[in-house]
Amino acid sequence: MDTLIVNGSLITGDGITFLERASVRIRGSKIADVTTYQPAANEGERVIDANGSIIIPGIINGHAHGCIEGPSMPSGTAPCSTEDILYQRNRHLMSGTTTLLNVCGLATPDEIGRGELASHALDVQVTTAHTPSSIAAAQVSDGKGLAHHHLTATIDDMISLGARALGEAGGGQTLGGGAQDYRYLPQAIEAATGVAVHPKIARLFKEAVLGRRLDGSGAASSEAIDDLIHHYALENHLTVEGLRRIVVETVMPPVHLAMKGLEEIAVQSHRLRLAAIFHNAAPTASILVRLAETYPRARMIAGHSNHPMFLPDEAVATARLLKERGVTIDVSTLDCIATRWRNGPDNLDALAEADLIDTLSTDYAGGDWDTILSAIQRMISRKQMPAPRAIALATGNVASAIPELAGDRGFIDRNKRADIVICDAHNFAHVRHVIANGRLVVENSRIL
Ligand SMILES: [Zn+2]
Repeated sequence: MDTLIVNGSLITGDGITFLERASVRIRGSKIADVTTYQPAANEGERVIDANGSIIIPGIINGHAHGCIEGPSMPSGTAPCSTEDILYQRNRHLMSGTTTLLNVCGLATPDEIGRGELASHALDVQVTTAHTPSSIAAAQVSDGKGLAHHHLTATIDDMISLGARALGEAGGGQTLGGGAQDYRYLPQAIEAATGVAVHPKIARLFKEAVLGRRLDGSGAASSEAIDDLIHHYALENHLTVEGLRRIVVETVMPPVHLAMKGLEEIAVQSHRLRLAAIFHNAAPTASILVRLAETYPRARMIAGHSNHPMFLPDEAVATARLLKERGVTIDVSTLDCIATRWRNGPDNLDALAEADLIDTLSTDYAGGDWDTILSAIQRMISRKQMPAPRAIALATGNVASAIPELAGDRGFIDRNKRADIVICDAHNFAHVRHVIANGRLVVENSRIL
């Protein structure tokens, strides 16, 4: 069996351990040994000298979309093209992710990817959200990717075929979240007026009409909505009533069904003791708290707890209530680190500073997601937490939260799967090499 030795400073993924001038010995697909010194290599053993860089476990991304061939998103939208899937997988891999849970939820495990996708170095797994109301919400909101076998699939069947967790329960399309802002609302406004609006404006309109909880609380007055329409110079295209109608008819049809879907997934998680990923945002926050109390054996993960529909203090208060009830608090990079097309880092910072984050993922953000290591670098440079703890958010902590996905990895330790990333010591977001399942797959930032 081939042996590969990686020498350098090491963060093991347990949230605490940092070893200087250590050595990792990889044999086949497994880590054979970790030493706190750098032994001489035997003949025929390949050595990667990463002294001066940092060695970390491969990133485990527990909440992503757009990496499988099946129906996309909790809305059951038509699948992404193979070209887009490859681009998205490569982007994850090059940024240090070696394991990814695609949480669209309505694809079947045999739709992860064939051909070129099947041999891709990024280990992609799927979830299941096949409950009656989740499927109905998808059909109402979009559903163009759903075939008969998706509509008749059951959670038990999908688990036996290899789905690793439940979810995503709810989603931006079905619960008035990001995909309404960047996709469905701009499309509806353009269809009605001929004018294309920026997603940020679509979100302002949505929240003015419906409030941030979609229940009318905090909705704007007619005068304030009229002012908004004038502010964006749309008075020749939109009336207050016209805008109200577009927003309500676009956003609301799947909302009630998707809310019911949340409870159905909690029931299944409680019954099967399986991890379940929930869409956590202002409209669903109080429901998730109730579900955590009602179904104590459910293994709930509150996805993107930094969702932009929250104000920072609401994101913190919600995360605290959920965490007290045993829920895992996941945050997502979205586009809020480097891209910032629609979202900013305030909620992420607030949750980090309140010490509430358990795990860190990307989510999708319309394909604009920023990398996990760029968020980790931000946390470290802002002194929100020490580097080993920040790294654990996307390695050891995910493995512990979803062992069905990553129980054999996430830590640099003997007998773990050899998923290893080497990144720059002064900017973890600069990934030099990636080893996946014992194989060097990214070398000097180039996919091999
Ligand atoms: Zn979501």
